[in-house]
Amino acid sequence: MWQAKPRLDATTLKFGAVYTDHMLQVSWKDGLGWTAPSIDPLGPISLHPCAQVLHYAVECFEGMKVYKGKDGQLRLFRPEMNMDRLARSAARLTLPKFDKVELLECIKELVRVERDWVPDAEGFSVYIRPTMIGTHPFLGVGPTREAMLYVILSPVGPYFPSGLKPIKLYVETENVRAFSGGVGNYKIGGNYAPTILPQLRGSHLGCSQVLFVMQDGKSKGGLVGESGSMNIFFLIRQEGESGELELVTPPLDGLILPGVTRDTVLKLARGFGDMKVSERPLHFDEVERASESGRLLEVFGTGTACMIQPVVGLVMKDSEITVPFDGDAAKHWLAKAPGTAALPNSSSDEPLSLCGRLSRALLDVQYGHVDSEWSVVIEP
Ligand SMILES: *Cc1c(COP(=O)(O)O)cnc(C)c1O
Repeated sequence: MWQAKPRLDATTLKFGAVYTDHMLQVSWKDGLGWTAPSIDPLGPISLHPCAQVLHYAVECFEGMKVYKGKDGQLRLFRPEMNMDRLARSAARLTLPKFDKVELLECIKELVRVERDWVPDAEGFSVYIRPTMIGTHPFLGVGPTREAMLYVILSPVGPYFPSGLKPIKLYVETENVRAFSGGVGNYKIGGNYAPTILPQLRGSHLGCSQVLFVMQDGKSKGGLVGESGSMNIFFLIRQEGESGELELVTPPLDGLILPGVTRDTVLKLARGFGDMKVSERPLHFDEVERASESGRLLEVFGTGTACMIQPVVGLVMKDSEITVPFDGDAAKHWLAKAPGTAALPNSSSDEPLSLCGRLSRALLDVQYGHVDSEWSVVIEP
């Protein structure tokens, strides 16, 4: 007999280990189109052993979150960007088109059913995982004839076991996650399995994730890409008299996952107006030089799962770059009253790290402390 699961204490939640009671599912067949979507108790799905997804990784997914504010309202954050990206990933794998507005409505309905699962502590939320798979039982490599789209929900806390604590990244220069002409800019399952082994190697060196740095034959250090599940940002003080502050992240050149958080951070930082904000190729040599001359101020990863993740170390085989930035300062600053993010020089006596300012600004929108067109309220 199916039974609703007991709710857990939100503050002990880790990432991705607990699921809510229900899932949304809908299937598709070539010529017949989509079935009516249904919300059912979460449970195993049945697949033919020859289903395409099991052999050729015909799978794409999204990662979104629903946040509960102090006002009890549930909010999504820029969800139309996730629908657009899912549609692009699906198209790349010949998975079927879907109605983006309808899917979002279905997701909202699932969230309404599970609304009691959404924790109301800041930094906690319910992670939403829309998934599309090719289910056609066919061992030939060919276009998708049958598919299934499902959405599961997972109440979550901080992504990394370290919590809000800053992490170290292992600088991976041998394996790549993406290459020119490849599919690194799509959120498709096949991109992730090969990153697990490098990540494991990094974890033996005390790193929570890897940073992919790709040899390009032009520079000794290679080209900075992104992390396994985060886009990466560097706050660098430029050389010379002006000493201009520059926030740099690699450009969307096909190798980088176009993150919703990445886009948001770029817009927020441009709005702060006190630094240059660049999407440009970044060679690891430049990061090393900046670090050597004390101009590497902050490094952080961004993603829906981890939000803004301070990075304090870039670990290589025989050396390590330490980022002087005290990532814990962001945490103290986060604890302060909301709604102050847009005031970088407010009376606060804490050092106003860029990480802290960005996190505060994001949380303010996500938990409804400020009105924003990025927030989509789920009507009860
Ligand atoms: C999902 C993901 C991100 C972050 O994207 P968001 O839309 O900000 O959650 C970054 N890099 C990779 C490789 C990802 O899979």
